Amino acid sequence: MSEVEDDPLGGLDIETTEEIEVPDNLIDQVIGQDHAVEVIKKAARQKRHVMMLGPPGTGKSMLAKAMAEILPSEELQDILIYPNPEDENNPDVRVVPAGKGKQIVDSHKEEAEKRNRARNAILMLIILAIMAFGIASYIQTGEFSGMFLAVIAAAVVFVAARYISGSDEKAVPKLLVNNEGEDKAPFVDATGSHSGALLGDVRHDPFQSGGLGTPAHERVEPGAIHKANKGVLFVDEINTLRIESQQQLLSSMQDREFSIKGQSERSSGAMVNTRPVPTDFIMVAAGNLDALKGMHPALRSRIRGYGYEIYMNDHMEDTPENRRNLVRVVAQEVLKDEKIPHFKNQAVTEIIREARRRAGRKGRLTLKIRELGGLIRVAGDIARAQGNDLVDRENVIEAKKIARTLEQQVADDYIEKRKEYRMFEVEGQKVGRVNGLAVMGGDSGIVLPIVTEITPAQSKEEGQVIATGRLQEIAQEAVQNVSALVKKFSGRDMSNLDVHIQFVGTYEGVEGDSASISVATAVISALEDIPVKQNIAMTGSLSVRGEVLPVGGVTAKIEAAAEAGVEKVLIPKANEDDVLVEDRYREKIEIIPVSSIDQVLKEALAGKKKKDFVDKLKNIATIAKDSVEGVS
Ligand code: ADP
Repeated sequence: MSEVEDDPLGGLDIETTEEIEVPDNLIDQVIGQDHAVEVIKKAARQKRHVMMLGPPGTGKSMLAKAMAEILPSEELQDILIYPNPEDENNPDVRVVPAGKGKQIVDSHKEEAEKRNRARNAILMLIILAIMAFGIASYIQTGEFSGMFLAVIAAAVVFVAARYISGSDEKAVPKLLVNNEGEDKAPFVDATGSHSGALLGDVRHDPFQSGGLGTPAHERVEPGAIHKANKGVLFVDEINTLRIESQQQLLSSMQDREFSIKGQSERSSGAMVNTRPVPTDFIMVAAGNLDALKGMHPALRSRIRGYGYEIYMNDHMEDTPENRRNLVRVVAQEVLKDEKIPHFKNQAVTEIIREARRRAGRKGRLTLKIRELGGLIRVAGDIARAQGNDLVDRENVIEAKKIARTLEQQVADDYIEKRKEYRMFEVEGQKVGRVNGLAVMGGDSGIVLPIVTEITPAQSKEEGQVIATGRLQEIAQEAVQNVSALVKKFSGRDMSNLDVHIQFVGTYEGVEGDSASISVATAVISALEDIPVKQNIAMTGSLSVRGEVLPVGGVTAKIEAAAEAGVEKVLIPKANEDDVLVEDRYREKIEIIPVSSIDQVLKEALAGKKKKDFVDKLKNIATIAKDSVEGVS
């Protein structure tokens, strides 16, 4: 099958990824999201908010960061918080150009120190004078009382002076946001922030009364919305932000300023509320496609009305140019990691192959690059652990076994358990039992056995389809399709029969599409009492006309079947080119592409009655028979 190609690196003639030039700007490092890149550039120029929707690891936060890089840095500001002499709990706010804030605070401190020094000098003089007076009175009178009074007077003066100089220090403003020396606009990731971190907070002060405590303005802490002033505020999984937080976020976007107050009600900070602090940021919100559901409608319409919505691609066309871009991604990830070695060209080829495999579709490369990056790092770590100064092909192959996402690991674990309990059979023959195939955890395949039982209808009006688990709908549809065909094969009317379908050991995470040829086969087997070979597994969707339609995840399903010890697997002919099975599975399993249900039955059924039945099928003209090759 079309797998190992002549030009995996898109015409690049390199020995290692060290020869690849990586662009300096983050925005130029993004691949496969040309539309998103254009929109981000435009939004940066026009200062518009952006909503990015798409699967994780496709570059949303990377683009948000890239946007901050291209925003002008001349406009950056420092934010200072001043004590308010009229109302301690309502600190003042001052905004100055970047770099000025530190100067102001420094000069305030210097001023306070100078005053302190002068005060200390005077203080010393006064204390000396008092002491001199005390000594003089002792010499004159020979009594201690004058001396004693003098010591007390000196102490009182000393404490009073301390107090005055303390309040002097307390007048120094606090530098809330400091952009001194920054040459880039800020990028602030507020994903999953609690309200204090997002909106700012005022710390609690146990000594707030009596002048001993820290003054209110010094306890003010900036939120992400303030730190992102003149830059980018990025919030991923926007729908998981509490609805009140979304509301407040929205008002900070509308007003471009937001007062900071203490967030926890029982703390002394809750009394404090500053004058408005600037929050002139560009909002980049991100999430999965279903993020829109949990999003505050007003927030969404604000972004919509004053910004852009971007849909991220999760795969791209497999062209030489895109392959070259992926090669560059390998180089980028190596440089970003800083610890792993560069890749040999053979190792890069293996990564490109994996990008094809993970796309799961013919002529496509995956754009879930975070996952690919994980694979690259694991391969790099393996090479390093072996003391190699370059990553080679074997390291990548080894890494593929290790670098699985959490969902995949959960699925793997589950599959492993099923194997232990031998929930599926891979030899012999059984009536009404078929090894179906499904996908779970994104891209782990599983063998999903289906058992069917047919009984006379319990209800007088009509027969029912009774399925276990969440797969009721799929079962119903498959049986509907199959009943039309059954009528043609055998003249039987299924409407007076109950069909019980059990998906053995189904589990929440199973994405149960594409089980319909398995259901159909199980039903026909049960109905005609013809056994099914258990060394076969199958996947495919069934049309009412008996055609086998293409499905997703064939590669993962084939690999799962091979793992389970199944010898043959039936897949839709239309999926033939999507098969990118790893070499280690190739020898284990025979892949048979099928395009109609009669081919499926011919392969899967067994026993004495099979021949008669299959002969009967041949006479049914409506069944699609566009190709019969590869079928015995
Ligand atoms: P998301 O925000 O969509 O979940 P990220 O931007 O955090 O994904 O992606 C994680 C990492 O994967 C990035 O830092 C980058 O190294 C790599 N990456 C993701 N998408 C791309 C892309 N389109 N082009 C280049 N690298 C990418």
